[in-house]
Amino acid sequence: MNRDGLELLRRGAGILGVEIEAQLPAFEQLFTLLQEGNERLNLTALRTEEDIVLKHFVDSLTCLRGSYLEGPLTVMDLGTGAGFPTFPLALVKPQLQFTPVDSIRKKVEFVRDTAVQLGLSQVTPLVGRAEALGRSADHRDRYDRVVVRAVASLPVLAELALPLLREGGLLVAQKGAITPEELNAGRRAAGEVGGKVQVVDPFELPVSGDARTLIVIEKLKPTPSKYPRREGVPNAQPLF
Ligand code: SAM
Repeated sequence: MNRDGLELLRRGAGILGVEIEAQLPAFEQLFTLLQEGNERLNLTALRTEEDIVLKHFVDSLTCLRGSYLEGPLTVMDLGTGAGFPTFPLALVKPQLQFTPVDSIRKKVEFVRDTAVQLGLSQVTPLVGRAEALGRSADHRDRYDRVVVRAVASLPVLAELALPLLREGGLLVAQKGAITPEELNAGRRAAGEVGGKVQVVDPFELPVSGDARTLIVIEKLKPTPSKYPRREGVPNAQPLF
């Protein structure tokens, strides 16, 4: 990462109030590994230094708004892709135990290799689909938090994530601008799967000013056993 990239990262994190000075070398290493991985595996559409720093690193750190990720917590990152938001969050919050999940094996292998190279032993990547994990005894009702970025619409996320949470656990969904229709459908879906939308927090991505919304759904009671429906159905036929 060149000097401009480092300054952009410092500036973005500074606006968010996230202290990253000690982690800058690790972010530089992550940047290099991501570029190498992209050349081999075509992992992410974001290629320029500015895009990677702002739209992967700083953007992932915005999940820390509102302090829903404080303390020792188990966190599933659903649909992690090349490891976002897991990596930036794991670098600055070492007390979080991450399970980044994706259905695409080559992405998870990249995340696994990268976690080892960064020395992040608290990151345990997993190949799988949310629909299957949500019905497996090893993962259902287990996690303190599920974080998601850029995976699906809110009603789909509610059905995929709530079964994985323990009661009292939180889905922290980082999205772009959300329409009233999607939010309304998300509220209804959350109710159907045992949860409630507790927070809708619109904000701007530092530096670029792009619209973002952090949405928090709390699991209040057990998710009915018929959810999640079988693979592909939540997306093809959203609950609302
Ligand atoms: N969260 C990453 C980010 O913000 O850069 C990746 C976003 S990418 C657009 C969405 C990822 O979610 C893809 O890698 C896809 O394979 C994964 N995904 C979508 N639906 C999934 C499901 N039901 N179970 C597991 N992974 C899923």
